[in-house]
Amino acid sequence: MTELSATPEGVLSNVEVDTVENLVIVGSGPAGYTAAIYAARANLSPLLITGFQDGGIPGGQLMTTTHVENFPGFPDGILGPELMDRCKAQALRWGTRLVEADAEAIDLSQRPFRITAEGRNIESQAVILATGASANRLHLPSEERFWSRGISACAICDGATPQFRNEELAVVGGGDSACEEAGYLTKYGSHVHLIVRGDKLRASAAMADRVLANPSITVQWNSQVVEASGSDTWMSGITLRDTSSGASRDLPVRGLFYAIGHTPNTRLVCGQLEVDAKGYLITRPGRPETSLEGVYAAGDVADAEWRQGITAAGSGCQAALAAERWLSHHGLAVTVQREAVEPGAVGEQRRTAVSDEANFDPDALWQKGGYALRKLYHDSKRPLLVVYTSPSCGPCHVLKPQLKRVLEELGGRAQGVEIDIEADQDIAVQAGVSGTPTVQLFFRKELQQQWKGVKQRSEFRQAIDALL
Ligand SMILES: Cc1cc2nc3c(=O)[nH]c(=O)nc-3n(C[C@H](O)[C@H](O)[C@H](O)COP(=O)(O)OP(=O)(O)OC[C@H]3O[C@@H](n4cnc5c(N)ncnc54)[C@H](O)[C@@H]3O)c2cc1C
Repeated sequence: MTELSATPEGVLSNVEVDTVENLVIVGSGPAGYTAAIYAARANLSPLLITGFQDGGIPGGQLMTTTHVENFPGFPDGILGPELMDRCKAQALRWGTRLVEADAEAIDLSQRPFRITAEGRNIESQAVILATGASANRLHLPSEERFWSRGISACAICDGATPQFRNEELAVVGGGDSACEEAGYLTKYGSHVHLIVRGDKLRASAAMADRVLANPSITVQWNSQVVEASGSDTWMSGITLRDTSSGASRDLPVRGLFYAIGHTPNTRLVCGQLEVDAKGYLITRPGRPETSLEGVYAAGDVADAEWRQGITAAGSGCQAALAAERWLSHHGLAVTVQREAVEPGAVGEQRRTAVSDEANFDPDALWQKGGYALRKLYHDSKRPLLVVYTSPSCGPCHVLKPQLKRVLEELGGRAQGVEIDIEADQDIAVQAGVSGTPTVQLFFRKELQQQWKGVKQRSEFRQAIDALL
């Protein structure tokens, strides 16, 4: 049997694995991490495949939002990425092991079940599917630019954001969700436009009547959103195309809410487990068991209705408890012995201090701020990765540890600097950064390559290797 080895962050190194796992959890949103916390505390040493790009990002949908005001325990609210960082830290503290990759294939036709991730074959007695659901998007040309800066996929979550107060807002969609969200947003906006492609609503009659009778809502019939516009900080309008005449017109709205459905991330198990007409996993009513013994579902992947962080977390707990009982009942669990009953406290995360004249280190792998950037740009003979981040950017939380791992693997042959674009706006403007995360690779004062968004570690590694 090959021993698994993990970094202090719980990430498994690239070793051959021929162990049969007790429990593999697929997905790292609130459902996946809650399941992991319960399973790890039950000494099952769960393996969690975080996902990377397929169906979301590590940490799940809450990584793409700013303030979460309705998760119990945080009376002043909490940033979505911070909440997920905490869930992750709690899961790791109790012994969860991570594979930071997408599950590429899941074979439930034989036992133990087989999952392929990062090119490895992983065998497991039980599986919890917590792969979430992705809100459908319109894929407007400027969608990424205004995501969480005017465009949102969740009116109930984001409607109360100060920027939407007393402003004109728009909801896209003609079904029950769109009508409900339009009504909900009238609490905050000065007026709400419901953008409908056809000439009637698909919503139930009662819901449609309520919308049509509401003087604060105008239905924009036969209309399709084709683009959004605004400043660097916030969206200020959308362009509509008339679906019958083809004519374009502008609508000055500060918020655009998508209510055009969700797609559950069940592609890998379709045909192996029962799913409903929309592709959501079917479980026993009120329970986490899927149609196959030993396979459990948690969170949005099996929930077309509630789709909230707390409901996902609750069902993650149920799934882990059910998996543990099933494994014990069949004598399949190989539990781990803890050296200490109580693992060490996680403590506050150490943040990188902004470098200045006093603490700048020319050989440090990772530093922060304009001073370090200027010094390294001019003096360093090594490739320099510059990552532009902002405090509420979830994907930045995902990307930074990946970049640090690349630099650690390179053993000091390249260096990194983080620029917070809120703190160092001038630098961001000078560098032409239009969104976060953006990564620029410099070598001998020349810009070699630029990436926007979260990318695989191998892309950065290859680009740096080519310079060495
Ligand atoms: C913009 C926005 C704002 C929101 N705000 C709030 C809020 O304020 N409060 C609230 O309660 N809810 C909010 N929600 C809803 C909430 O985010 C979801 O209900 C919740 O995240 C669902 O959790 P989950 O664990 O089921 O799935 P998700 O959070 O969707 O996580 C799914 C995970 O599965 C992973 N995955 C997918 N495919 C694979 C694969 N092939 N292999 C491995 N992993 C995979 C993804 O990477 C991701 O980590 C918001 C949603 C959005 C979109």
